[in-house]
Amino acid sequence: MELWELTLQQMIGQLNSRCISSAELAESVYEHTEKTDKAVKAFITLADKDKIMEQARLCDTEAFRGIKGIPYGLKDIFCTRGLKTTCASHILDNFIPPYNATVVNKLNEQQGIILGKLNMDEFAMGSSTEQSAFFPTHNPWDLERVPGGSSGGSAAAVAAGEIPFSLGTDTGGSIRQPAAYCGVVGLKPTYGRVSRWGVIAFASSLDQVGVFSKTVTDCAIVMNIIAGHDPLDSTSVNIERPDYTRFLNADIKGLRIGVPKEYFQQGIQAGVKEEVKKALKFYESSGALVEEISLPHTEYALPAYYLVAPAEASANLARFDGVRYGWRNTGKDNILDMYSHTRAEGFGDEVKRRIMLGTYALSSGYYDAYYLKALKVRTLIYQDFMKAFENLDVIISPTTPSTAFKIGEQIGDPLTLYLNDILTVPVNMAGLPGISIPCGLSDGLPVGMQIIGKAFDEGTILKTAYAFEQNSGFHIKLPHPEVI
Ligand code: GLN
Repeated sequence: MELWELTLQQMIGQLNSRCISSAELAESVYEHTEKTDKAVKAFITLADKDKIMEQARLCDTEAFRGIKGIPYGLKDIFCTRGLKTTCASHILDNFIPPYNATVVNKLNEQQGIILGKLNMDEFAMGSSTEQSAFFPTHNPWDLERVPGGSSGGSAAAVAAGEIPFSLGTDTGGSIRQPAAYCGVVGLKPTYGRVSRWGVIAFASSLDQVGVFSKTVTDCAIVMNIIAGHDPLDSTSVNIERPDYTRFLNADIKGLRIGVPKEYFQQGIQAGVKEEVKKALKFYESSGALVEEISLPHTEYALPAYYLVAPAEASANLARFDGVRYGWRNTGKDNILDMYSHTRAEGFGDEVKRRIMLGTYALSSGYYDAYYLKALKVRTLIYQDFMKAFENLDVIISPTTPSTAFKIGEQIGDPLTLYLNDILTVPVNMAGLPGISIPCGLSDGLPVGMQIIGKAFDEGTILKTAYAFEQNSGFHIKLPHPEVI
């Protein structure tokens, strides 16, 4: 077994017992990534090898702790001091932040090593990573397919073994959906659980930072580092962070699982339904209580999301005006032309579509009919979940209606592309935590199972996921042997 193949937990164990050195690990990881990423194209920016090796050698001179000397990746939406942060947009393609996002500082304190910045849909708007202004990322299970999005680079890099874990963001499904398509673990924590400070904003009432990893245990380890209150983020909640690894035991007797009938209806591929139903059988046979439930307002979640998210995006993206950050058109002789040409040249089509949708929904005369209405629908969706959780511990569904689709197949049809998030968006609208874990294969492609929990109850989600993972062993399957 090569060192890059180890899980985070195994890397920690072997570094701690001095079976391996950080330098050996970094060498193995870097070489594998350089080779593999020619095909997968997960990284926008790969850190310089000499710098990585220097950091690793320095770690070897000190006692091991935390994740010292372990390489990891960041979606290119996290500000990193001195390291280019593009959000996969031309408008930021020369932006070097002067500070780190809080989560990056937390990982730095543990002396993790940033291997690089990962590809994504521009400003996190998309479901396939084809909307990156630079290049599409390829799914390691089948290079002709998308890795999902918007955090597609973060998911593909973990699936291809390029890094043991990465961070992404999830506004409507951008962690869980690519995790499902790439056969890795992807957790979107409760809104407010992890700091968003220093993370480039898309839709501030929905965005949440989360983890991609090879196993559920690794996810718990990273959550222990990144979760917790941050005074710099006024939406981060000041409650105690539990030790997430303590939830990992396989006894799920008596666990109450709800299965929403609306999440198994039309448009869900037969192979996806089948694998999730098999997983539900496992839970039943392990003593969990599985019952069908209804979340009656599910069908309104996606249309409401496509008003709320673009509305917030149109406000957040107003700051990219050519004055303060990144790209500026310098050929104009007045400021209004400079603004409009900078934005016209800097933003891609999907971002412009969202800005137009958002400003329209917020404009006077339409605000009540669209934006306010969407907020009322959001409350109904939240109430559906609250009612269901009166008698349940978790809710289980497929993560996505299908497995990964082909590159180019949906790009010309935004509405079809939006439907990929139909099963993940309601969770963001309600601010709840959700995980996607691999639960099987359909025609050789990974199927994701979504486990949704009560607010701030990531522990029960991790426990439920862990029990299945221990039984299935699915997480040790690797994609595409010719690629990795
Ligand atoms: N695909 C959804 C969108 O395009 C969700 C994106 C996300 O979660 N960042 O808005």
